[in-house]
Amino acid sequence: MDNTMLLQRLHKLQEVFTDKEAELTALDREIGDGDHGVNMKRGFNAVKEKVTEGSIQDILKQTGITLMSSIGGASGPLYGFSFVKMSEAAKGEIDVDNLKKLLDIFAETVSAKGKVTGGEKTMYDVISKAGEVLGEDGALKLEDLQKLADDTEDMTATKGRAAYFKEKSRGTVDPGAQSAVYILNALSLEEE
Ligand code: ADP
Ligand code: MG
Ligand code: MG
Repeated sequence: MDNTMLLQRLHKLQEVFTDKEAELTALDREIGDGDHGVNMKRGFNAVKEKVTEGSIQDILKQTGITLMSSIGGASGPLYGFSFVKMSEAAKGEIDVDNLKKLLDIFAETVSAKGKVTGGEKTMYDVISKAGEVLGEDGALKLEDLQKLADDTEDMTATKGRAAYFKEKSRGTVDPGAQSAVYILNALSLEEE
């Protein structure tokens, strides 16, 4: 994946999050404050508007900075800072080895910043396992990622707003796990 393709994929997330706004809103209404759909749409609207050129490193960094300042909520700094950290490890084009490294950094950053581990019903449950579903060809398939998000349905939240719902958080897919599916799919080296 070269810089032009990365830019296209990130810009396409603006459409994806416009399409998925209602879905993410519905999930966040169940176990949060109902703003995750709006937050993600606002974030990627800003990315499409503000991130328009540069190397892979520049694009990832500007995306991170833009997400940090536009998404808001708990997810803004987590996604934003992760893109900034990924930019530091990016070089040249993104190939399978490099992508694996970026996914590790994405997971490490969310874990450190969110003080979160696996099974706490957050975006981390999808991001930390993305490397396991990464194909040899670099594919990050929607259906594989979706299974990881679906696994959060039976978990009890212990981080973020959903933690206030305690046992009642069970039975709903975590909104951030769902948005992570779309973000990770945008980094897939194989288009579906
Ligand atoms: P807010 O909860 O502030 O309204 P959002 O609705 O945009 O923010 O994002 C909520 C999502 O953020 C959750 O579904 C969860 O995946 C993620 N999240 C919240 N707190 C944490 C945390 N400490 N670590 C990892 N992810 C978190
Ligand atoms: Mg919310
Ligand atoms: Mg909020």
